[in-house]
Amino acid sequence: MRRFAAVVVVVGLMGAAPVGAWGGGGHRLILERAIQLLPPELRAAFDAGRTTLLEHASDPDLWRVAGFEEEAPRHFLDIDAYGPPPFSALPRDLGAAIEKYGPETVTRNGLLPWRAAEMRGRLVRAFEAHKNGQRYGQGNAVYLTAVLAHYVADAHQPFHAVLNYDGQLTNQQGIHARFEDELPTRYAPRLTYEPAAPRPILETREAMFEALAAGAILVDGLLAADLRAAEGRSEYDDGYYDAFFSAAQPVLERRTGEAITAVAGIILGAWEQAGKPDLTKPLPRPAQKIRGRNAR
Ligand SMILES: [Zn+2]
Repeated sequence: MRRFAAVVVVVGLMGAAPVGAWGGGGHRLILERAIQLLPPELRAAFDAGRTTLLEHASDPDLWRVAGFEEEAPRHFLDIDAYGPPPFSALPRDLGAAIEKYGPETVTRNGLLPWRAAEMRGRLVRAFEAHKNGQRYGQGNAVYLTAVLAHYVADAHQPFHAVLNYDGQLTNQQGIHARFEDELPTRYAPRLTYEPAAPRPILETREAMFEALAAGAILVDGLLAADLRAAEGRSEYDDGYYDAFFSAAQPVLERRTGEAITAVAGIILGAWEQAGKPDLTKPLPRPAQKIRGRNAR
């Protein structure tokens, strides 16, 4: 979920943060399914910390609600702001992107790939800390996995990749939530996700750019489906949703499946880079000082 959530907050702090597919339930679903694809010695820590893990799946959205303004642009990258497909104008290196377009433009159009790469680095270091016997490495790895997975999942939501992120440029306001929230909630029993087996991903930033570029080119089709479904209706009723769902279901299922595979692949890559620490072992007890003449 992205900017429209912030708008809701500005409009008047009306109730709890919106819960959407890629917002609440979807983020948990993607994370939970991704964990199931991991090898047992890695998966053990996530199974043991399952409650913590899933609780934090939407933390990055809540940071914006809490007023961390710098958080908002980390959840998207409007890749079409820099030109048409194949979206190669924007340098993948952040420094080069800022040099070319200026920090204001780069920030306004979104920072997702660089944020995901930053969190992936933190996850690698947490795995390494655990491997080196540091007490909080494993717990931090579980937490950081939830946070990192959030950004990776956002990158797979097509409306996180375009300027017309909520249909506001084509008079289709609200399509962001209709797609990522209403469809998965209304039609949950009919949705099936078939994630491919993950391969370790080492280039997180590149993977995010690819996911965003692949999502951006799906948006025109979704906008057209939304228009067709809304034709002749005065409100978004059950008939609208049935029609929109029948057109959007394949995209929704495929993108969710790809998000699951990408989350698993990025965790796997981080873990491998850290030297595959064994997360089935109990945490080492901290060394105790011997009281007596050496004590100080
Ligand atoms: Zn988000």
